[in-house]
Amino acid sequence: MQLDDCLFCRIARGEIPSNKIYEDDDVLAFRDINPRAPVHFLIIPKQHVQSLAQTTPEDEALLGKMLGLTRTLALQEGCVNGYRVVINTGADGGQEVPHLHVHVLGGARPWKQM
Ligand code: AMP
Ligand code: ZN
Repeated sequence: MQLDDCLFCRIARGEIPSNKIYEDDDVLAFRDINPRAPVHFLIIPKQHVQSLAQTTPEDEALLGKMLGLTRTLALQEGCVNGYRVVINTGADGGQEVPHLHVHVLGGARPWKQM
């Protein structure tokens, strides 16, 4: 299920352009529009899930896939010295876009504040 007016659902449908680095039937990875590090991309499920807090045991294969893709894409993007993985979740987690996304940040420091 996707939402008509959700920013990341719209990006997943191609209604809003994004700088894609990976796509398959389940997930999409694209560069963050306001990068806080030399490498900063997001991985989202194509189906709408509000946040990590709204996932269920049935989503665990998808969550595992997103983390495995984090490893693969971070290496592909040149993060050979490591990277940071962030999932802002809900209001107190500082989540601004209410569609689950994994931030992957890497490259030489210093980085900007998240
Ligand atoms: P969060 O605060 O965890 O919800 O992060 C949302 C992220 O989405 C921020 O880092 C934004 O810079 C990023 N963002 C917002 N709009 C777009 C867009 N159209 N394309 C790519 N990234 C976006
Ligand atoms: Zn959505």
